[in-house]
Amino acid sequence: MSDIMSRGFRTGTAAAKEAAKSKSFNRIDFFKLSDGETTYVRFLNDAWELITVDMHNMVPTKPKPEDWEGDNWPKVTSVVCRNTKMGDGLPLFGDCYVESSGMRNPRDESKPFPTASRTWAVGVIREPVFGDGSEKMGGEAQKGKRVGFRDSTKEVDEIKDGKPTGKKIKVKEFVLFTMGWQNFFGAVEGAAQAYGTILDRDFQIIRDGEGLKTDYKVVGLDPTRGFDLRDPAVAAKYGITIDLNTLDADGNPKKTYPEDIDISKLVMDKADADYFARFIDPTKSSTNGKPAVVKPVTDASVDQLAAMAARISNIPVRPPVVEPFPPDEAYESAYPAEAINFEE
Ligand SMILES: [Zn+2]
Repeated sequence: MSDIMSRGFRTGTAAAKEAAKSKSFNRIDFFKLSDGETTYVRFLNDAWELITVDMHNMVPTKPKPEDWEGDNWPKVTSVVCRNTKMGDGLPLFGDCYVESSGMRNPRDESKPFPTASRTWAVGVIREPVFGDGSEKMGGEAQKGKRVGFRDSTKEVDEIKDGKPTGKKIKVKEFVLFTMGWQNFFGAVEGAAQAYGTILDRDFQIIRDGEGLKTDYKVVGLDPTRGFDLRDPAVAAKYGITIDLNTLDADGNPKKTYPEDIDISKLVMDKADADYFARFIDPTKSSTNGKPAVVKPVTDASVDQLAAMAARISNIPVRPPVVEPFPPDEAYESAYPAEAINFEE
């Protein structure tokens, strides 16, 4: 669990201005993959940090408010259910408009709007690097073979003082996973139990099927030499601070994430009363002006949030520490046992 609560939330107009200036609010997209496609990812959260909440997906939005600039008003949006049952058995906020308004399932009017349990994690998309025959890439023997991975990047508009400067900048391709347990995170948990962590290697993800028949094959690849995100120096490349001398309530080193890749903050943004007021609940108006992708949670005090965060159900995965499997020498010499990380 991150420590957003102990840091508190920034409030007031000065903070809002500061937030608008902040460079990177457009950095994170939801993870998406088409049927039959393959991708590679490095998770930035270990298995014990994953957060599971109830969600309402594809909720129809209310009519476009007058103060909304532009034509890109979404037709549907996803929200975290404000009635999500927490570890203490009590609801998160207890006033979810999707339920209290009696919204119906668009596919079957006789049923209430669906609720789905989703597990959250952040990751960075990785792209394979192939040997070019050079010594650095494993020499002639590895020519044309996959020798490792590097972070995928994308071009975005540079934002300064809340406005695009007209310049494009290259940023790491972060993705937010809000996926099911049965067809996705169950396999991730399996890897965590086998390897003791999910931060020491890249994962290959293949999507198979569509709609309710979607399955994901999630496979942990060879560990990456010198590139383990439990190492504070490696985590720092993503702006993540790991304090090995301070343990959190679970006995793990204290980690602090930049706010745009902090899953507890991202979860709370999608459960925020102002988000519901802005996009879903026609009886309320947003009080925050045009919403940023990430903005302060407004309807609870820091203490209440601390209590809520403690109640968000972390997945009960405490991977056992495992001894590495003894290497088979013939196999080791035929294949490199570790992948290599390449800087962009
Ligand atoms: Zn709800």
